[in-house]
Amino acid sequence: MEKKTRRNFLKTAVASVSAVALGGLASCTQQQETGNAPAVRTRKKFRWKMVTTWPPHFPVLGEGVDLFAKWVEELSGGDLKIHVYGGGELVPALEVFDTVSQGIAQLGHGASYYWAGKVPAAQFFSSVPFGMNGQQMNAWLYRGGGLDLWRKVYLPFNLIPFPAGNTGVQMGGWFNKEIRTIEDFKGLKMRIPGLGGKVIAKAGGSAILSPGGEIYTNLERGIIDATEWIGPYHDYLMGFHRIAKYYYYPGWHEPGSVLELVVNKGAFEQLPKELQAVIETAAYKLNLWILSEFETQNAIYLEKIKEEGKVEIRQFPEPVLDTLRQYAMEVIDELVARDPLSKEVYQAFSAFKRQITAWAEISEKMYYNVIVP
Ligand code: CA
Repeated sequence: MEKKTRRNFLKTAVASVSAVALGGLASCTQQQETGNAPAVRTRKKFRWKMVTTWPPHFPVLGEGVDLFAKWVEELSGGDLKIHVYGGGELVPALEVFDTVSQGIAQLGHGASYYWAGKVPAAQFFSSVPFGMNGQQMNAWLYRGGGLDLWRKVYLPFNLIPFPAGNTGVQMGGWFNKEIRTIEDFKGLKMRIPGLGGKVIAKAGGSAILSPGGEIYTNLERGIIDATEWIGPYHDYLMGFHRIAKYYYYPGWHEPGSVLELVVNKGAFEQLPKELQAVIETAAYKLNLWILSEFETQNAIYLEKIKEEGKVEIRQFPEPVLDTLRQYAMEVIDELVARDPLSKEVYQAFSAFKRQITAWAEISEKMYYNVIVP
């Protein structure tokens, strides 16, 4: 009886050791498997909505957003899927900010100057007349404290912004009237939004806001004398080169408009850390992709516009640009005088601009002066 018990005990003990050993091994194997194949864990799946200010699949901007959704799905292994709605599909284009702020959609893509009526300080995070270009805006936002300020400005709206694209330097616009001096802006009817429009008004013109779909007809029928749009690629697609006499540069009013990704703060905080990192990574990728696509397509389409030879491509005279710059400073001074948050943001913006422009004087600008196409 004793012997049997002892034997049984040994048997059990051996079995236990084996079990421990196997168990240990099994745990190791399991850990290794977990490391190699995260699918072992049950992970929560997220299905998000994204609203945009662009028409569905709009060249560069809408296309970029479609790619963003694809990248997020790939990077998250399918854990975060995004349904993209173009402007007007779920909500009107200019309701993106409110829609994401209220959490009706978790994500939005647009440009912060669209929200100037609600948040005047937001304009400094997209583009202001005679402000910084795309490369300088990236430097300010990512490394110069700009993004922290932007997040502070959007915090009361329950939104987290990310830089997510840049148009590069835009064109000055299509004119049916020649611009020789600043006087030529007097009585000029130009489609130009935002602070640029206020500068035109100071020069004696009238800034008219027409929706994208009506600009061509308005210019053709003389309801407006001039319009800005984006750059050679989008402008060509609009057909302005067929009806305008002059195509002026540079786009002093939009020297590098930053596009934004806004994420509903509550929704973002519910994501596991790795999915938050996926959003951030895909936003970086979109920022780079959009600017690269703009630069590439604008170069191709400038050539097309030149080849078709129906429009005269001209630089604004330097004295005109000097006066527009003075007016732009006045417009910005007026804005910051009535809005303390704009003042805070503009002080940071202009301090960074002053420093980086001094650097650009001997780097970018100097280099552009010595290269030829
Ligand atoms: Ca524009």
